[in-house]
Amino acid sequence: MSRKIAGPEIERLVQLLARLPGLGPRSARKAVLALLKRRNDLLLPLTEALQQAIAKISECPVCGNLDTVSPCSICQDTRRDQGLIVVVEEVGDLWALERAGIVSARYHVLGGHLSPLDGIGPEQLNVASLIARAQSPEVKEVLLALNATVEGQSTAHYISDLLAASGVTVSRLAQGVPIGGELDYLDDGTLAAAFKARRKV
Ligand SMILES: [Zn+2]
Repeated sequence: MSRKIAGPEIERLVQLLARLPGLGPRSARKAVLALLKRRNDLLLPLTEALQQAIAKISECPVCGNLDTVSPCSICQDTRRDQGLIVVVEEVGDLWALERAGIVSARYHVLGGHLSPLDGIGPEQLNVASLIARAQSPEVKEVLLALNATVEGQSTAHYISDLLAASGVTVSRLAQGVPIGGELDYLDDGTLAAAFKARRKV
């Protein structure tokens, strides 16, 4: 039997933090110690920020983004291209595209990818609402910016089949050699995708 080192309150904190992605029990324990040591400049502000998040942040009913206003500020932004919907798996992907500042369109967050083995089918994702949005007359193109993983790509296939009848242009991100990438360092999959997507110069 393992010996109890800390009280149940601390154990609970560790267990909760250990559920976060990228944090195992060991790093969760470290994080808890840091929080408890820095009560005023870390633990208290974090608690307040978490309470604010619960009170104010919600999922956008239109696109699935997280924001303090509903519909989210991106959906409400009329300066964005209303003809393009960029489909992503997670809100983190939306953030990445926004940080890069390369597109000024609206988004649709699926909430993951199809994964039959984990019981994740189209009903578990925001697919129906995407198909409904794509019927809207102002929408001209749906860009499937999904991960270049097997699951991401099979999800993209599934959605493009569903959208085939709707008359919108369905596109996906190109795959290939990254900017600054050296061929020698690329994995076989990336190299094969780049070869397949070759263009006339
Ligand atoms: Zn939205």
